[in-house]
Amino acid sequence: MSYLALYRKYRPRTFSDFAGQEETTQALRYQVKSATFGHSYLFSGIRGTGKTSMAQVFAKAINCEDLQDGEPCGKCPSCLAFESGAQMDVMEIDAASNNSVDDIRELRENARFMPASSKYKVYIIDEVQMLSASAFNALLKTLEEPSPAVVFILATTEVHKIPETILSRTQRYTFKRISQQAMMRRLAYIAKEEGVEAQTEALHLLCEHSGGALRDAISLLDKTLSLDRSRLTVEQVQNSLGLLGRERIHRLLSSAVEGKIEEALEELSVILREGKELTMIYREILAFLRSILLTRLVRDKRLIEGLLGYSPGDATEEYDMLTSDQLDELIQLFDESQRSLRFSLIPRLHLEMALIATWEKAKGPVQVEVKKVLEKRKVEPIKEEVPPPKDLDDYTPYWQKVLDKLNASGDIATYAFLLEGTFEARSGDTLLISFGPDYDFHKNRINEEKTNAKICAVATEVFGTPLKVRGISKEDKPLNPEDRLRAFFGQDSDKIEFR
Ligand SMILES: [Zn+2]
Repeated sequence: MSYLALYRKYRPRTFSDFAGQEETTQALRYQVKSATFGHSYLFSGIRGTGKTSMAQVFAKAINCEDLQDGEPCGKCPSCLAFESGAQMDVMEIDAASNNSVDDIRELRENARFMPASSKYKVYIIDEVQMLSASAFNALLKTLEEPSPAVVFILATTEVHKIPETILSRTQRYTFKRISQQAMMRRLAYIAKEEGVEAQTEALHLLCEHSGGALRDAISLLDKTLSLDRSRLTVEQVQNSLGLLGRERIHRLLSSAVEGKIEEALEELSVILREGKELTMIYREILAFLRSILLTRLVRDKRLIEGLLGYSPGDATEEYDMLTSDQLDELIQLFDESQRSLRFSLIPRLHLEMALIATWEKAKGPVQVEVKKVLEKRKVEPIKEEVPPPKDLDDYTPYWQKVLDKLNASGDIATYAFLLEGTFEARSGDTLLISFGPDYDFHKNRINEEKTNAKICAVATEVFGTPLKVRGISKEDKPLNPEDRLRAFFGQDSDKIEFR
């Protein structure tokens, strides 16, 4: 038998097989179980998050003749037809290549006929945003007069391109980027099933390089295992992905930090001669710096391990002489340097310059005058554009959603910074997040332009109204949050609503 790619072999067969997407699987499974499902769905989200697989499991479940607590049984004739690809009543259409109005008209005609052998006909339309305007209109008519035995599942990676009229006629489910933990669990499961002895850190490396798409992570696993199917080690993954590994990155960086510039440049030369790609080296340097910064900022060891996927160990101690601000500057340095690669005539020069600048930055302790920054902030007027919130009690859970979203988006640094803050109050269109006396660094980071813009965007999305987010200091502690904020905002204080 020919080799079956792992991502095909381990395609979810039931709702509980899915990694992540818990809310969606729960909702759909409940609908199947209670026979309350609708006739048109829209699944949206980035590629590789399970939209099509979910549509297939759903189609299988509503046609199953012996449902097991909302899950397809996998044994009845309908389920078996599914497994073997012989199910005639489920049609998968790729809208990228069938996007004309005639394609949809044909589909409408076919949808009128009763299912051939099962209870429901299911049309899965992938990349539905590719339909032409007239095709969307034709589809809309179909959705407006649903036939009782037909279910439409539309899937898209670009929900903003779907007309409002279509959106309003579908039940919508958003597929989230799959969290590292969920992805790790699935990869570990697959490795175990395949009889592979896998190092946790090796699995974590794979997840890290998959950009939140489980399919990519599984394909990377497959590719790495093609050399040795009995075990999975960090070195194998490093080789397969063309990575250097933490130890060598450490060697490169620590030479630069200690001012041994010649050694650092020589090491870089060796690395480049091995054929490693510059972008990957940057990526690993950034990941390494991040791990040090996180170890510094997050006290909970378990949380760090969760964020990094491994125990950072002792390597970080050698960077103790760098302040958090310096580390932060180094991250920005390498990040900016990496961005300018594309326009460069001599790309390696950028990395060499960044290594030299690392030494410059590591030399002098940088003192950020937090107090002064704070003083400036105090005189900023607070705009009052949005009417005061209806019910402040509702805000804390929503704020948690903002955090979850940031975490799910993979921006773990911002998430970690915000985690140390507390949702304090909303003042006009600004959410105030307070930080304790030892957390000026965190506070400054969330007020920093780029990071702040990101948080605002997520908050705006979650609360459904344009919002700003501002980190404030808990410092002038006193009495209670109300008085603290009154002191902070002076005359504007009557505009502040308290939690
Ligand atoms: Zn069945």
